[in-house]
Amino acid sequence: MIEVDVLTIGAGGGAYPGAFRLARAGFNVLMVDKKGVMSGNCLAEGCVPSKAIREQIHTYLRFKVFNNVDVEMDYKRILSKKDEVQNIRYKLHEEELKAFKNLKLIKGVARFKDEHTVVVESDKGEEVVKAKYIIIASGADVFVPPIKGKEYAITSTDIYKLNPNLTYVPKEFAIVGGGYIGLETAFYFANLGSNVYIFEKLDRVLAGIDRYATQTLLKYLPKNIKIFTSVEVQEIALKDKKKVLYYKQDDAVKSVEVDEVLMAVGRRPVIPEGADKFLHINKAIEINNACQTNIPHIYASGDVNGKIPLFHTAIRQSLVCAHNIMANNTPVDYADFENVPFTVFTIPAMAFVGITKEKAENLNMDIVETSFDLKEDSRAEMYAEEGELRLFFDAKSLKLVGAYIVGTDAEQLVSHLGLAIKLGATARDLAEYQDQHPMTQECISKAARKLF
Ligand code: ADP
Repeated sequence: MIEVDVLTIGAGGGAYPGAFRLARAGFNVLMVDKKGVMSGNCLAEGCVPSKAIREQIHTYLRFKVFNNVDVEMDYKRILSKKDEVQNIRYKLHEEELKAFKNLKLIKGVARFKDEHTVVVESDKGEEVVKAKYIIIASGADVFVPPIKGKEYAITSTDIYKLNPNLTYVPKEFAIVGGGYIGLETAFYFANLGSNVYIFEKLDRVLAGIDRYATQTLLKYLPKNIKIFTSVEVQEIALKDKKKVLYYKQDDAVKSVEVDEVLMAVGRRPVIPEGADKFLHINKAIEINNACQTNIPHIYASGDVNGKIPLFHTAIRQSLVCAHNIMANNTPVDYADFENVPFTVFTIPAMAFVGITKEKAENLNMDIVETSFDLKEDSRAEMYAEEGELRLFFDAKSLKLVGAYIVGTDAEQLVSHLGLAIKLGATARDLAEYQDQHPMTQECISKAARKLF
């Protein structure tokens, strides 16, 4: 039996930054992860590999504009660069771990025995671990709905994992699900030459994300992406080497014949076995803002608590857990689930933070808005790119409450704006700030200056 101060179930973003903090403070920490490596699904099949693909496509598109050339992209080379990035990062993490004697990572699957004990199952057999504190950071997994023929579809894991299963650009590509993973993947493959068909059950794509921002993004939808909304995918069948996807639209069953079908209807929290015996679970593990479950010495951090499925918020939550454990299980640190930057890494990207227009409308909140058209921005002009930045202020205080950006550097600008919200910046603060020229940050102060 192993006895430790803190056990983390999972070694992804929801676990390892907190584990390092606790180890630095002298706690004896053990991380258990199915994969046996740090960084979870983000590095294995999520943010990092998908962006490694995106950045290569984006650079290629910009290169075409600069040089007016039309060379073909080699998808296998794109993938080998993606794999290289993943491998480099795994090596870096290995080195980071070596720096600690009181922090260990073991490969295995953890299941709960009781509130302080888990059993870790691995190739070597079973090991019992007793811990004073437990941080559950077991993440989320691709959800595949029980559609007939679902086994003929691939998932994002098949595209983004190391040595992926999808190694070519399908000519005809169907994507089930118009969420951010579906849309990002659609934009990448459309730019690589696929004809993409997105099937979404709801009446809009990116449901849950500001509809005005989404409308702006859809102005830049590549011509070879077709979106079908209010449709229900019913079956996937094989026809020679092709796949036929049957979908219901206005009571009629229709079909498309494609080379590949991507199932992208969402991800679900992965709850360790046995946790349901004593934890409050409602699809995800319920927590308070201190990331504590109903059992105070058990924390749940990251995707598994179902709050916001993003790596950067998981990191912050893992530190919240660490700080509260360091304070003898007294909540002294709290996670902020409101002011979290979110980027849909399409090309162009769409990013948002805080309270944007649609949310303000739903909250009946009085806001003042201002915008800037990227057509007037010198850096966007250099890339021949377009887009829009929109800022939202509380009408009384003129404090920044939210923003969205579609276009050049959206993924960077959103971080400035999130920080401005956190620091309580007003429209006047933004208007007076000397944003660098010729950088897209200028759009922020220029938009704010329109109010004065
Ligand atoms: P987060 O960003 O929320 O930390 P990730 O999905 O990146 O989530 O990481 C979760 C990690 O936890 C993954 O590497 C996954 O394989 C691992 N995992 C899930 N369930 C278990 C379990 N029962 N025991 C050990 N590891 C687990």
